[in-house]
Amino acid sequence: MPVWLERARVYAGGLLKPARRGLRILCYHGVVERKQDPRLERNFHLLPDFRKHVELLSRRRTVAAAGLEDELRRGKVPAVMITFDDGYANNLLAAEVLERARLPWSLFVTTNPLDDAGLLWTSEIALLLLHGRAQQVEAFGLSWSLRTRGEREQAYQALRTRLKTAGAEVRSSVMAGLRDQFPSGEGERLRERFPSMRMLRWEQVRQLSAAGVEVGSHGVSHELHHAAQPAAVRWRELSDSKAEVERRLGQPCRAFAFPNGDYNPDSRQEVEQAGYRWAFTTEPRPADADSDFRLLPRLDPPASIPGLARLLN
Ligand SMILES: [Zn+2]
Repeated sequence: MPVWLERARVYAGGLLKPARRGLRILCYHGVVERKQDPRLERNFHLLPDFRKHVELLSRRRTVAAAGLEDELRRGKVPAVMITFDDGYANNLLAAEVLERARLPWSLFVTTNPLDDAGLLWTSEIALLLLHGRAQQVEAFGLSWSLRTRGEREQAYQALRTRLKTAGAEVRSSVMAGLRDQFPSGEGERLRERFPSMRMLRWEQVRQLSAAGVEVGSHGVSHELHHAAQPAAVRWRELSDSKAEVERRLGQPCRAFAFPNGDYNPDSRQEVEQAGYRWAFTTEPRPADADSDFRLLPRLDPPASIPGLARLLN
């Protein structure tokens, strides 16, 4: 087949292919100028890549959280919603790019680490195991060598998996035990060395909120909502974080993003009882008219532009 005919067929195919319906809700975490450790910072996008993302997203219809319900009811043309989880200070870089492009976005903050410049527990465990000053650690009755990078990655992978399936009480006592095996102040030292893991301060969150960013909750301490998590912990994470966001911002906290995307059969009812209007998982599909507003799916945006374009089409 001649090249021109091949091209014509591809072009026609692209034009004729019906646009898939639904709202693409993108779940970002952070934007950094450079990566010091790609494993530690795997969820972050590089600033030049993110600028290209925003360029592409600017050509789509973007929806703010407030327009979400209408969009899902009507939703014939694919549209996009932009969200950021956790509340890293590096989100200010993203804010600049998004504001210049006038794109609406939502930010889900974990309320505890925002006080006195703390760390998310998921960041702390990564920093300690990948970069902390210890040759070996003990946890869950097992010993893990940290002599080589390979061993550190193995220990991190294994302990992270165990901690993510544990309840909050076990999680925090294992973390306290781990912390004790490193020199004191190691978390603070590593936070200085890897500034991309720092969290926003409330004053900065207030400024984002005043600039029109929808600020929702991502829990008090980033405890996961799997079935092994006691209901009392899940409730505290939902209701205390909501109250804290509202107290700090003087605005209703309408949205919740499940940490790690985990939820359980009671989650829908729990977020509703806690007073949230919308809640987001990480079920990887577009949202549509059949989606439950309190279990909305979200997509993980890949670094590459062709990858993102595929996700949007
Ligand atoms: Zn998170």
